[in-house]
Amino acid sequence: MSKQTTSAQPDTAHRPAPQHPAGADIVMLKDGQTRVSCHGDDGALGHPLIWLTAETQPDGSASVTCPYCSRIFQRPIAG
Ligand SMILES: [Zn+2]
Repeated sequence: MSKQTTSAQPDTAHRPAPQHPAGADIVMLKDGQTRVSCHGDDGALGHPLIWLTAETQPDGSASVTCPYCSRIFQRPIAG
């Protein structure tokens, strides 16, 4: 009889890193806007007010992710 050992280790090593956390909010920036403030939500996701700068891409779009609440601020392609 072979004795089977059940691994108690959770299978997290091979878990693919998600591009965005589940349920992350996406906030659209105004045209030409690169600076945006974020303080999360009033609830559990609240955090101190911080200012973020969206990095403009070659196509004119821009985006930045809040390091606190993972909220994504996006600016559509200019034009
Ligand atoms: Zn935030």
